[in-house]
Amino acid sequence: SDSRVINFGAGPSVLPDSVLQEAAKGLLNFNGTGIGIAEISHRSKEFVAFLAELEGQVRSQLEVPETHSILFTQGGATGQFSAIVLNLLARHRLLHPDLSNDERAMDYVVTGSWSKKAAEEARRLGGGQVNVAVDARPYSKDGKSFDNIPAHDTYTFSPNPALIYYCENETVDGVEFSNDASSPASFPFHLLPQNTLAPLVADYSSSFMSRPIPRLADHAIIYAGAQKNIGPAGLTILIVRKDCIVDVDAAAKLGAMPVPITMVYKTLADNNSLYNTPSVLAIYISGLVLKRSAELGGLKYYEEVNKRKAEKVYAAIKEGAEKGVYQAKVKEGSGSLMNVVFNVLGEGAEAKFLSGAEARGMQALKGHRSVGGIRASLYNAITEQQVDMLVAYMKEFLEQ
Ligand code: PMP
Repeated sequence: SDSRVINFGAGPSVLPDSVLQEAAKGLLNFNGTGIGIAEISHRSKEFVAFLAELEGQVRSQLEVPETHSILFTQGGATGQFSAIVLNLLARHRLLHPDLSNDERAMDYVVTGSWSKKAAEEARRLGGGQVNVAVDARPYSKDGKSFDNIPAHDTYTFSPNPALIYYCENETVDGVEFSNDASSPASFPFHLLPQNTLAPLVADYSSSFMSRPIPRLADHAIIYAGAQKNIGPAGLTILIVRKDCIVDVDAAAKLGAMPVPITMVYKTLADNNSLYNTPSVLAIYISGLVLKRSAELGGLKYYEEVNKRKAEKVYAAIKEGAEKGVYQAKVKEGSGSLMNVVFNVLGEGAEAKFLSGAEARGMQALKGHRSVGGIRASLYNAITEQQVDMLVAYMKEFLEQ
């Protein structure tokens, strides 16, 4: 069939039709060069200008201050699980050369599968001690699931850590920090070590460009894989405070771990993200997506629409829960606006729900294999009208 379905997949995920149509033209002829985007040199003036435009879109839409550089790389968010540790341990070594590795704390806020994985990578690499600042599981309904953002008084940060890590939106578990500072599910910025440039790191992979980033300027590193809200897989976007772009080789002379060259933030920064060949096609499509976002009204626009979309689905879950058909997985107040997860109760009911959805042109609603259930990913390219169709089906399913 040549018609497109409604794709609620968690990533790679749906991209706007209009962008894909434009990208198809660019595949044959990029910006009038007569050469396709997948064929043109990454050092051509046309591509270099396009990359600068993409950077400009990220900077203006997120209001990234001049204290921070915007870098583009590959290796996915998982690549950054390693790169942040190596770069920030090098920074810590330069600041505190005399501390032993046992005295280099790396604080991890563990609210779901992805932050847990990031902490595991830090532990695997070594070079410092992983301190779990908080693990959300003991505060869950069943004592073992990631279903909540813990209360502020449960966090313990180290006095002088090499890094402090959190994942803003947990794609698998459907748990997200609130961007309302007065919410108990907000990130506890006020508990961070004061009077120092805190090495605060945030994985924004699945919520990047879905709404403004609270306290962006207080972050050392914000990073995201492109394959949710902005483009194809293969592009990783980094926002790095300039004091975290350090000479890792000088740090290695003092005993820090050596850093593979493509992971060195200074190498990326010194070469305008063109040290080696970047993911040209992914950059192109992401640039088109962000240009379109700006035309629609940018992050203010998406913040409003995305909030309405998620509220509609959560309301339908609540209605179904009262009838014993659906069950919310995440505690109220901690639910993600991007990935809404719930169970369909009863023998065979989940399979029936999924096949009914497919019959109505809605796909990829099956939850991650590690948690099961249903997951509806409501990224920017999912329209409110498409969410209305999902909600109508969820209500219809209650009557069956
Ligand atoms: N962090 C989050 C929040 C994610 O959603 C994902 C992937 N979906 C990752 C990290 C890993 O990303 P990648 O597959 O690009 O390495």
